[in-house]
Amino acid sequence: MADNMVLQNIKMLDGTSVDIVIENRKIVSIALPGTAAGEKVIDYQNKAYVSSGWIDMHVHAFPEFDPYGDDIDEVGYKAGVTTIIDAGSTGADRIQDLADSSKKSKTNVFAFLNISRVGLERVDELSDLSLLNKEVLKQAVHEYKDFIVGLKARISSSVVGLNDIEPLKIARKFSKETDLPLMVHIGSGPPDIHDVLDLLEEGDVITHFLNGKKNNLFDDKGKPLPAFLKAMERGVHLDVGHGHASFSFQTAEQAKEYGIHFHTISTDIYRKNRQHGPVYSMANVLNKFLCLGYSLKEIIDAVTVDAAAWLNKPELGRIAIGDIANLTLFSVEDETIDLMDSDGEIRQAEQRITVKGVVVNGEYNTC
Ligand code: ZN
Ligand code: ZN
Repeated sequence: MADNMVLQNIKMLDGTSVDIVIENRKIVSIALPGTAAGEKVIDYQNKAYVSSGWIDMHVHAFPEFDPYGDDIDEVGYKAGVTTIIDAGSTGADRIQDLADSSKKSKTNVFAFLNISRVGLERVDELSDLSLLNKEVLKQAVHEYKDFIVGLKARISSSVVGLNDIEPLKIARKFSKETDLPLMVHIGSGPPDIHDVLDLLEEGDVITHFLNGKKNNLFDDKGKPLPAFLKAMERGVHLDVGHGHASFSFQTAEQAKEYGIHFHTISTDIYRKNRQHGPVYSMANVLNKFLCLGYSLKEIIDAVTVDAAAWLNKPELGRIAIGDIANLTLFSVEDETIDLMDSDGEIRQAEQRITVKGVVVNGEYNTC
């Protein structure tokens, strides 16, 4: 078996063409196109781009849980995503099982720990405050400190029940005690979005920030709420988290009009919205942002450099000699396609991103 392989004639995002040589799982050379030799050569004939491996900040990769569950590698490397962050599928009770299954998968996995010990075993996980147990949470964070990158709180009415903003106040306390940022899912109120925004701090993540529901981040006229702008000034991170119900073209167009830029583009993918839409895959979600008029570089940065920066793992967002090879190869072709958001709205796009191959921890796979 070849331990040295060359990805030949691939385009970087700036349009220059290169060969990338991978040996013993690492990038050992970035050479002029068509010049590198190796035991196994895959010639992309300048028909594909290469970026560092895509990072999806919001997935559900604990297959046992329904409806919000899926297999790690289905939402990971098979879709061109070399690193996933499970967004609070599990709480303290099952984080060990998620960590164990991540070791058996090819895709790199990190996790937000649900502040409710039961996680998404039930979908109203914050309606009973006795499930928000500080001691078991701290123990889990201690045991899985390299795996857990933040805490997850789903702050919308169907999840919190009658508890209004109380679960987020508790999440804030847990965040202080563990020194971990929060990823907060927003949606229908109560609680009121202003109460949510007021509790968010630098490094916290708002996921579903382009949702089109009432109680979202924009007023009736489509203007961003002043409290939203203030949260952005404090350094709150904006994540897409498309999902079944949380991405609206109209809201995305409003955000663009007011110059509000995403930090990360994520899918909120799980079995059902992968198989039946409107998510399908990371590439399909990226197509929507291409259609909105963002540049290819802005879009790919949002799943590479910018996601890696939030993770404080810059090596995951670059292509550099000496690093373990995590790369995504994809084409961008002129093609007319219909894209649907979470509200059933359709936009016609003129370009399509398609994943062609992936290198995950040095291992090449076609997609
Ligand atoms: Zn959510
Ligand atoms: Zn989710």
